[in-house]
Amino acid sequence: MHSNKLFNRTRWQLAGWYAIVLGLLLGICGVAVYQVVFHTQRYILQQKLQSLAGTLHDTIEPQLQQPGQLSSSFKTILPGLCLWNENCYSSGNEGARHTARVFQQEGYYLRFLDESGRVLATSGEQPNVLKRFAPGEFWQILNCSKGDRFYQISVLLRTKDGWPWGYLQIGRSLKEWDAYLNTLRLFLFLGLPFAILLVGGSSWWLAGVAMRPIYQSYRQMQQFTSDAAHELRTPLAVIQTTVEDTRLAEDLTEVNQNLDIIERQNIRLSRLVKDLLFICRIEQQQIQTQLQSCCLNDLICDLVEELAGLAMIVEVELKLEIRASQAVVILGDEAQLYRMVTNLITNGINYTPAGGIILAILDGTDKEAIIQVQDTGVGIAPAEQTRIFDRFYRVQSDRSRATGGTGLGLSIASAIAVAHQGSIQVQSELGKGSTFTIRLPLK
Ligand code: ADP
Repeated sequence: MHSNKLFNRTRWQLAGWYAIVLGLLLGICGVAVYQVVFHTQRYILQQKLQSLAGTLHDTIEPQLQQPGQLSSSFKTILPGLCLWNENCYSSGNEGARHTARVFQQEGYYLRFLDESGRVLATSGEQPNVLKRFAPGEFWQILNCSKGDRFYQISVLLRTKDGWPWGYLQIGRSLKEWDAYLNTLRLFLFLGLPFAILLVGGSSWWLAGVAMRPIYQSYRQMQQFTSDAAHELRTPLAVIQTTVEDTRLAEDLTEVNQNLDIIERQNIRLSRLVKDLLFICRIEQQQIQTQLQSCCLNDLICDLVEELAGLAMIVEVELKLEIRASQAVVILGDEAQLYRMVTNLITNGINYTPAGGIILAILDGTDKEAIIQVQDTGVGIAPAEQTRIFDRFYRVQSDRSRATGGTGLGLSIASAIAVAHQGSIQVQSELGKGSTFTIRLPLK
């Protein structure tokens, strides 16, 4: 496949397309995963801040009397609260420091602002940015100069009488969150090219696997075309030279002889074309097999009787052995079955030297019929045994041509066996003989 430019290019193209499509899909999946993680994390954070803000709001609001005024009960509710005019973190205020530490550990901070946005009290590590609460803007992201980010919720507080008191702001550092998302982004960003490389490699391999059977049938087609052309060339060349000879012929006897040659070649060509058409049609299931009950005992007896004369001419013995105890009946096309067994027996006769024996055996199990044709002929080398069922393949071309063989006999037999849901196999030893075994399912 590597040596064939067309297939090699197609393989690269296929692999490229696979890699692009899968890479795009992986990219989309990566973005989707990132979005899902991002939104889930943000949702969790919002839920935490909201519940904290809700609890504080409900606890504090009933204590609020004057707008912008912190009542003394605030310190009881939030012991670590640091008022704007106190220097809590340096004045040894243990409560404030403790609350700040707790908030800090969790990354939270808290502050109260009056309506004008002035800080009244704080708790926890404060971001050094103060963003005013604008009506409707509950959620804010604060960007500090150091690059740290904070997520903050602002809630409007009202006095007992329903007057606006000021704001409660609760926020949390996004340091961990940002670090987590950065790692995820980096992982996806670096992972994608690596995944595309892997996908590209496996696409290349997959394209090769997918194209292998196509390449094989392409090679078979090429082989078939060149074999068919080769087979047709010889008789056509003979016809051409004979026609030229005939033009120069001086007497009628020579002309008649030449016409005989042309006729023989024509018959050979017609047989070849007919056989080829038969194989093609039976393989494409275009031939309607006339399925009927066929008694193989009768079929094989008739055949052996018919071919006995041919065997006698070449001085070989053709014998029949029926091993099946009952009649072996299958559902099939009698004419085709006849042709299949004929091909095997005539091959046995053609490839067995004088004095040899050809034995046709009929046997059967409860599931299948078995026909065997054994001969004591020239045999077939192991390397050739897999190829003899290929169209036009011949082990001994000269001998095959001399016996009128087209190199299609076994292909036809095999195609017929397959069309009857059966199989055909060969066992052979060079110089000792061959055994062809056909197995067909019983009716
Ligand atoms: P052909 O028309 O040439 O006989 P086949 O397809 O029937 O074509 O057989 C293919 C080749 O297999 C033959 O050319 C021959 O070399 C070999 N072959 C087939 N049958 C036998 C056999 N019984 N003994 C030895 N060789 C055989």
